[in-house]
Amino acid sequence: MSLFTLGARLAADARRLAATIKIPRGEAMREIRRLACHALKVTPAQLIVRERESPGRFDLSPYGIVFDRRLKGEPMAYILGEIGFREYVFRVTPDVLIPRPETELLVEEALRFVDGTAPRKVLDLGTGSGCIGVSIALGRPSAAVLGTDASAEAIAVAQENALLLGAPNIAFAQSDWFSAIDGVRFDLIVSNPPYIAAEDPHLPGLAFEPAGALVGGADGLSCLRTIIANAPGHLEIGGVLIVEHGFDQQAAVKELFLQAGFSAVETRADLSERPRIVFGTLEQKAAAKPKRKKAVASV
Ligand code: GLN
Repeated sequence: MSLFTLGARLAADARRLAATIKIPRGEAMREIRRLACHALKVTPAQLIVRERESPGRFDLSPYGIVFDRRLKGEPMAYILGEIGFREYVFRVTPDVLIPRPETELLVEEALRFVDGTAPRKVLDLGTGSGCIGVSIALGRPSAAVLGTDASAEAIAVAQENALLLGAPNIAFAQSDWFSAIDGVRFDLIVSNPPYIAAEDPHLPGLAFEPAGALVGGADGLSCLRTIIANAPGHLEIGGVLIVEHGFDQQAAVKELFLQAGFSAVETRADLSERPRIVFGTLEQKAAAKPKRKKAVASV
């Protein structure tokens, strides 16, 4: 095929991309245009003008490099180095999980529990890119947020996001869940921990992202167990824990909340109507309550 214009070349690339990584043609074309703008350092309007011209007029090698990366399945967010999350744009690197739309819901729930005027202490466990903690800090300037992660590389990314987005009320600490958190109690603890089971068939499709941010032990629940069991020791009375979990883990996660003494345990589904979030409140009585007895099944 002779490709007389840059537009024809990009359309051919979009067809190849769609067939190779199995995405719809329209989506592939949008991705190709985004990659071309990024690599050629032009605006979408400038690209439209150039699409009518001969491809030989431009040095397309930077575009060729990013096209090859996408053709190998690398996520757009890593190639572009950024992704939209709520009304913000977050920097991402392969050291952090790419923020997902379902996690925006966790932020919405979290904001409901953080008063806009009173100072509130918030802990974001496993902050990654910082998308949850930084969004809360930006949405509630009177809150004091601490973002933790076991990965120093992730903390560097989160710190950069806090700086670029202008959130002075978030600090970061390297910590394996609660390991480095001593003597502070929070009003709200939030976490989107790794929750995919080690043998889950979806994992090969997520190969570009850090396994440490995805895999939660053999059944996917090991991090959630640690977080939920230890949260009461780090919450004020009346404090709230909110976690994101896998599509088939809601019953197990709810049970873990009840075992840990949380009350008013509630759940939320994501926009695709998959169960996705559990939250509960630590009340004084609940905190001191012995292990719950199994209810007698009614007939
Ligand atoms: N929800 C993500 C996915 O399905 C996983 C995020 C996580 O493990 N916390 O890819």
